[in-house]
Amino acid sequence: MTELATAPERADTTHGPARINHWIGGTLVAGESGRSGPVYDPATGAQTGEVDFATVEEVARAVSAAREAFPAWRAVSLSRRSEIMFRLRQLVDAHREELAHALTAEHGKVLSDSLGEVARGLEVIEFACGIPTLLKGGFSEQASTGIDVYSIRQPLGVVAGITPFNFPVMVPMWMYAPAIACGNTFVLKPSEKDPSASLLVARLLQEAGVPDGVFNVVHGDKVAVDALLEHEHVAAVSFVGSTPIARYIYETGTKHGKRVQALGGAKNHMVVLPDADVDMAADAAVSAAYGSAGERCMAISQVVTVGDVGDRLVAAIKERLPKIKVGAGTEPGVEMGPLITREHRDRVASYIDQGEEQGATVVADGRETAPEGGGFFLGVSLLDNVTPEMDAYRDEIFGPVLGVTRVETYDEALRLVNENPYGNGTAIFTRDGGVARQFQFEVEAGMVGVNVPIPVPVAYYSFGGWKASLFGDSHIYGPEGINFYTRGKVVTSRWPDPATSKVDLGFPQTR
Ligand code: NAD
Repeated sequence: MTELATAPERADTTHGPARINHWIGGTLVAGESGRSGPVYDPATGAQTGEVDFATVEEVARAVSAAREAFPAWRAVSLSRRSEIMFRLRQLVDAHREELAHALTAEHGKVLSDSLGEVARGLEVIEFACGIPTLLKGGFSEQASTGIDVYSIRQPLGVVAGITPFNFPVMVPMWMYAPAIACGNTFVLKPSEKDPSASLLVARLLQEAGVPDGVFNVVHGDKVAVDALLEHEHVAAVSFVGSTPIARYIYETGTKHGKRVQALGGAKNHMVVLPDADVDMAADAAVSAAYGSAGERCMAISQVVTVGDVGDRLVAAIKERLPKIKVGAGTEPGVEMGPLITREHRDRVASYIDQGEEQGATVVADGRETAPEGGGFFLGVSLLDNVTPEMDAYRDEIFGPVLGVTRVETYDEALRLVNENPYGNGTAIFTRDGGVARQFQFEVEAGMVGVNVPIPVPVAYYSFGGWKASLFGDSHIYGPEGINFYTRGKVVTSRWPDPATSKVDLGFPQTR
């Protein structure tokens, strides 16, 4: 088994930042553009890496490696592809710790959270192991006399994945596991902020038996992304990231004739009704708002309290906050790590300033409780009496700042959720099954939790939001992922009896 911890891309950084290269055709390829970007350890603020930024030509090289690998890969039998996926499952399982450490080193999330990310990604690989069953078509014998009709699903060719910083292992797995299992070849453009985990995964795919060229990684910025969006031989693009970029990816990719699924940002509301178990709701709100420092697209960033539960819930949340241990993700016992960059930390902190100026009550102020040192830390913040016109309500903050908005009725709470431009996840906390069912029926969001704050679907359902949280028609992974990465073909077939053959120019009709 590969010793990932000593793989060349995890280079010794004592002599300066490690150079992070592309992975094309089964090997590391040093960038030639002369352009690169810094990678930091967010817990210390120190630069640990320098990642190559690909040129249009380097992206074209990766697409061409994927294109060359496609005919042979799509011809590999389903049994063999399934076997490779099982092997990949085993390798990722065996290398959970290395992957989690690589992830924490560049993202900053705490190790237990990184292990959780790997575990949820692994579930998508497990789903992809069932590819022979997932690609079964339909068959209609004797659709017409002597004629059978059957449907098959075939891969698209070269597909690309463009991924965000906040799940550098799991989100790429959402894409390449089903895409490759379906017989496609893949080019990944991971986030330039935490790019190293994708190279560890590239080695695991190779060790699992995925032929060279089937999985490629190009690092970079807008230049690399645009090159993928415009390349004539990229058939489809999966994107996960912020809403403005998701919209851009969808518009540009479709303009160039590609199939595109682009998942965007979020502002997930948790509605708490007066009959809810307040302790359970407070535990859930704290976990879902501050886990991963709020840098999750399924984080709860806004609580909406109905009626008299507001005071009780805010008190219960406030009581829990001083116990949250903030620090480096590798330190035992730490529950919340730093933010991804200094700029992002400062931007998140600015929402506390603005909230205060615009009339919110600052119940807990993370600006005052951030650990000292060079790391990109912010403590946990709670803003009460947030109203819909405030910036802290309107924007996706993507940090450890939880807002509370108080309303009088369930209908007002529902209206807030439905009028929000985003529609990724939402949750309701109540003991009333009838109201919960009504909420599930009328709320406008793609993923709904009933007393569950982060309702990320298991791998055999599909993940995705509504409204400004998704551009395109397909949710990601699960059955919709299989559909996205394949196209249908229907065969109408007859094995003629020469005795009955004749010329007939009429339009074919069933007999
Ligand atoms: P981002 O949109 O800044 O970056 C995502 C990807 O797009 C990266 O690979 C980046 O290099 C690329 N990119 C950035 N700017 C670009 C440009 N101008 N042109 C072309 N490509 C560009 O997102 P992020 O900050 O890395 O991630 C956080 C965001 O992702 C949040 O908004 C979060 O809600 C969202 N997200 C959504 C989901 C979901 O499933 N809906 C999941 C995770 C994260």
